[in-house]
Amino acid sequence: MSTVVPARRLEGTEKNVWVELVSLASKHQAVNLGQGFPDFSPPVAIKEAFVRAISEEGSVLNQYTRAFGHPPLVNILARLFGELLGQDLDPLSNVLVTVGAYEALFCAFQALIDEDDEVILIEPFFDCYEPMVRMAGGKAVFIPLRLKPAEGKEVATSRDWQLDPAELSSKFTKHTKAIVVNTPNNPLGKVFDRAELEVIAELCTKHNVLCFSDEVYEWLVYDGTKHTRIASLPGMWERTVSIGSAGKTFSATGWKVGWALGPDHILRHLRTVHQNSIYHCPTAAQEAVAHGFRMELDRLGQPDCYFMQLPRELHAKRDRLFRCLTDVGMRPIMPEGSYFMLADISDFRAEVPPPEDSDEPYDYFFVKWMMENKRLAAIPASAFYGTEHKKHFDHFIRFCFVKEEATLDAAEEILRRWRGTRTAS
Ligand code: PMP
Ligand code: GLN
Repeated sequence: MSTVVPARRLEGTEKNVWVELVSLASKHQAVNLGQGFPDFSPPVAIKEAFVRAISEEGSVLNQYTRAFGHPPLVNILARLFGELLGQDLDPLSNVLVTVGAYEALFCAFQALIDEDDEVILIEPFFDCYEPMVRMAGGKAVFIPLRLKPAEGKEVATSRDWQLDPAELSSKFTKHTKAIVVNTPNNPLGKVFDRAELEVIAELCTKHNVLCFSDEVYEWLVYDGTKHTRIASLPGMWERTVSIGSAGKTFSATGWKVGWALGPDHILRHLRTVHQNSIYHCPTAAQEAVAHGFRMELDRLGQPDCYFMQLPRELHAKRDRLFRCLTDVGMRPIMPEGSYFMLADISDFRAEVPPPEDSDEPYDYFFVKWMMENKRLAAIPASAFYGTEHKKHFDHFIRFCFVKEEATLDAAEEILRRWRGTRTAS
């Protein structure tokens, strides 16, 4: 057969950092601080709920359920997020359950972005936003967070990275259809505070622009940082799709349960995409996630609530990784949220020089070198930038710290030995 010509909408979307680097990490049997997934189990109670769902004799939970979300799950999501957003949520029209947050994002772009619509993406951004804009026929417009270090501070933090309000305002044009906000942010770990979200919200209302708010790390904030939901700001509920993930919330990324919340006049269009593509999500996983939410709702705000317990454990892991990376000579940026940490590798250029005849971004070269030579996996940060800005941000790599102590021990040992060779030379 002659070469098959793919649809034009795929142009420029062929490369994918996860596809490329996940298999490389496994080939080198590297200690994996790359792809963002916990290497420990979800809470026992939700695993048991999953097993019950599939194993009870005559259980209907092995079959299809409601297309737009299993009733127990949409009910509990409406209750919980209704409270958090200060909205009276109707489980049937304000909640859509999706195959992970990925599908919620995909439905939003497919349903709402048309040929030549512009979508503002804040760099660094979770990499799938750009191809999803393209596949919908839209045009991504980029604005980088800019480094504004606070005077006299010893530790670089994700707070130092800020949007310039005037620059942001200049990106809104008559073609702008939506802006994507991801807080806590992947890969930087920045948590947008209320004032920062208010600037975005004002521009959205002024220009009648939609907001896709990716909040998959909503519970993972540290040092008393508060997560603010942009849909709860004045004028924003009616123009925002809020997106979440049980994978992140309950450390069960393989279950692929996500959701979109929003007003019916927006969600009805996401439902159209969903009903004609996915139709419905695995029932047992939805049943188990519903069980998990019911349990956590009963102890919300208490120390044993998983939404407090997980960030408490991650806080210690974050601080440990920060120390190890600093000791080896990288310059990490302390994240306020998420389970990722960027580190500046500029000081390694002499020790790990890039090949002369390659146009591969330095961070890609560095992580591949590190996987092969140090057996440690991370992700190049330039993967989270648009083409134009990639070259300015190829001196950061991203580490993931949602890992059990044994994995962090192994990473620490690699970094300790590496440090020994660096100080010796
Ligand atoms: N958004 C962000 C910011 C992410 O980091 C991820 C990766 N998990 C997703 C969306 C996709 O989430 P899910 O695994 O639930 O599809
Ligand atoms: N969200 C995860 C990360 O950022 C994994 C994404 C993926 O594997 N496609 O690491």
